[in-house]
Amino acid sequence: MHTVKIVLVGTTHPGNIGATARAMKTMNFSRLALVAPKQFPSAEASARAAGADDILAQAYVYDTLAEAVADCQWVIGASARRRSIQWPELTPRQCAAKLTTLPEGEQAALVFGREHSGLSNAELDLCQFLLHIPVNPEFSSLNLAAAVQVVCYELYQARLDNGPHTHPTPPEAPPASAEQLERFYQHLQDTLLSIGFLRPEQQQSMMRRLRRLYHRAQLDRKEVDILRGILSMTTGFRKR
Ligand code: SAH
Repeated sequence: MHTVKIVLVGTTHPGNIGATARAMKTMNFSRLALVAPKQFPSAEASARAAGADDILAQAYVYDTLAEAVADCQWVIGASARRRSIQWPELTPRQCAAKLTTLPEGEQAALVFGREHSGLSNAELDLCQFLLHIPVNPEFSSLNLAAAVQVVCYELYQARLDNGPHTHPTPPEAPPASAEQLERFYQHLQDTLLSIGFLRPEQQQSMMRRLRRLYHRAQLDRKEVDILRGILSMTTGFRKR
């Protein structure tokens, strides 16, 4: 469970941060990251943690989601709503199957949104997968800590079902981290603008489609280097 961190974005009610720590600890998770929480540390968070204060004490606080997930190879965003762009989607069980077999050294972030507005599209752009807890379609929004509980429960059960954890052989090159992917997307966007392929007015939707394409490919570090090499040569060629 130490390869998976729970990330809460823009949490408004400190009580939900405490309840999340409690939900995590019951399922043996310990790594909590908070992105721009409205109020933290807070007495209400500690009270609702009900003994899981060690998790609050060790929680990291970040200004942006990009910083919170920079070291992760797998970034999965939990969303109560279906989104207009079709991002690859996982149920908690499918997510658990994926994450219990992570090769050594790979890390995952499970990202949860704001109580009122969830995650923004720009935040979802950082995620390779969306996670949706199947619920009553007429009433699909769980309380934040309840959503964390369901997802952590599935991971815990999958770990129990798998027995003692064995890491599969690490791949030839490690998967790219979120930070490397972000640098690649920026490079790609700059290049596509400079060669006139992207027009500013369609930049956002086109970049979102390209992200979806590259996320699906699950690029490793070598592949990102190759793609960036191609981009650099494209720019050089155009200048000549
Ligand atoms: N009104 C918000 C819901 C926020 S609930 C919206 O429309 O997006 C707070 C967070 O809990 C969500 O951002 C999501 O991360 C998580 N969550 C709640 N219900 C969920 C569900 N059915 N599936 C996946 N995540 C859910």
